[in-house]
Amino acid sequence: MSCIISKNTQEKLNVSKILCLGMNYDRHITELNSIKPESPVIFMKPPSSIIHDNQQIILPKISDNVHHELEIVMVISKKARNISIENAMDYVEGFAIGLDLTLRDIQSEAKKKGHPWTIAKGFDTSAPISQFIPKNEISDLNNIDIKLYINEQMRQHGNSRDMIYKFSEIVSYLSGIFTLEKGDLIYTGTPEGVGKLKHGDQLKAVLNDSLELNVTVVNEE
Ligand code: ZN
Repeated sequence: MSCIISKNTQEKLNVSKILCLGMNYDRHITELNSIKPESPVIFMKPPSSIIHDNQQIILPKISDNVHHELEIVMVISKKARNISIENAMDYVEGFAIGLDLTLRDIQSEAKKKGHPWTIAKGFDTSAPISQFIPKNEISDLNNIDIKLYINEQMRQHGNSRDMIYKFSEIVSYLSGIFTLEKGDLIYTGTPEGVGKLKHGDQLKAVLNDSLELNVTVVNEE
């Protein structure tokens, strides 16, 4: 069973689904030459795509262009259905830092053809995730600072204040469509600076001074 782990208690929560937002930061929309969506862009990853701290990203042979997307991830605390924006944060247990790895070449082709993104977003190892901290350890939800270093160089730097859809809006919106369950993960979109990964890269993702995720990259054998 795929899980998410509490940094404080080491408790493991089962993950039954991973919901993700696309295009939730203006400068990322610009770098992809995309148009700002009229409603949230939602896709899923299977729980089998999760890897944890100190594990390996495996670049699949089917792609020549695997991109990193650094994202703040919400962890759901209890069953949620049709929740208002006002009550939404009652259903969030905490936050983690994650990577939404994307087969950009395969995604671009799918976009052109109007096909789904399932392969581009859901392949094995496409959802590296840190442990999570409780939401009360974050002093300002509108000022969460995230950074991604590759081989010790900073490649992405974002802040939750730049999110188009805020955490409470995202939970409320999704809960009107999907029953959210304890341990479910919501990836909230990437800031600008996405780019290609290669064999041997060492990635370090950080959230404020609270969380760190370290993963390495290898080619599929
Ligand atoms: Zn993403």
